[in-house]
Amino acid sequence: MAATGWPGCANSLKGVILDMCGVLYDSGGEGGDGVAISGSIGAVEKLKASDLQLRFCTNETQATRETFVAKLQRLGFDISVSEVFPPAPAAVAVLKERGLRPHLLVHEGLLPEFDSVDKNNPNCVIIGDAAENFSYQNLNEAFRVLIDLEKPVLLSLGQGRYYKETDGLKLDVGVYMKALEYACDLKGEVIGKPSSMFFQSVLNDMGLQPHEVLMIGDDLLSDVGGAQQCGMKGVQVRTGKYSGTLHCRRMASITAGLSKRTRGAPCNRGGAVTQKVNDGVNFGGLRRHRSRGGGGGADKWSSSSSSSPDTWPTFTAASHVTVLLREKAPFVSQSWEGGRSLG
Ligand SMILES: [Mg+2]
Repeated sequence: MAATGWPGCANSLKGVILDMCGVLYDSGGEGGDGVAISGSIGAVEKLKASDLQLRFCTNETQATRETFVAKLQRLGFDISVSEVFPPAPAAVAVLKERGLRPHLLVHEGLLPEFDSVDKNNPNCVIIGDAAENFSYQNLNEAFRVLIDLEKPVLLSLGQGRYYKETDGLKLDVGVYMKALEYACDLKGEVIGKPSSMFFQSVLNDMGLQPHEVLMIGDDLLSDVGGAQQCGMKGVQVRTGKYSGTLHCRRMASITAGLSKRTRGAPCNRGGAVTQKVNDGVNFGGLRRHRSRGGGGGADKWSSSSSSSPDTWPTFTAASHVTVLLREKAPFVSQSWEGGRSLG
């Protein structure tokens, strides 16, 4: 029976999708181009030299796709525009399909993406990572557009909580999306990761089935969880926004929610997602147990003493790609931990 876990599934994989910010590079810094993460340029080169298909999936919304790709090329990456999937072009397709005219609360660098769209008399709001444009005045303007609509539509280009730049963590679009949802008592629609529709559009371009593709990202829910909900494999790097302390806190929050839901709640949708995320991340600390007797068969979680973030190895795009290509190589058996040869 074919292996389903990572990295045992490597031989069944035909494609890889890489997140960009936090996986390939950290944004910000002098000049604004950011800094390539160690080994990531080589990892892209290795994947392109392999028989695997490669695409890049990002929630980047501070620049047009062309400008963004040019930045990555300056950093040394062999990347072309047609390989990169950000939310804005997908949003433009949705606007045209549904006859929507947006009020835009986005970064000025993204505005050219919407040149072909009718923005008169708006009947929806699009929110992206507007950064400095997230002023009270601009948020209030978006709020007033939404609250005055008979059928308010809020489209959010991603829903990340935060991301990392070279000078530290930054609030992401999801925070402001939630503010507008709360003020207007509505549910926004996400275009971008973790939307299954967004991941599926990348898979369609690759011509591959979800189980044939591995997603590598630094966001536990948008990258890993989103990919896994779509049926793909998902693994997390420990670069970018990853922080051992924050990760532990996040997982504690998720598993606390899981415990509550498994105590008699009929619907465990969130718990099921959590389990899939945990299986794929391979972070090794949290373990799930099937309760034997009592508790109605509820699942319980424990944390091994060796799970301190300080003792975890550093997983990067480069290390994941190295393991993937070694596992795929015929007649060569390598161990997962440390990359030591077994054969
Ligand atoms: Mg990222």
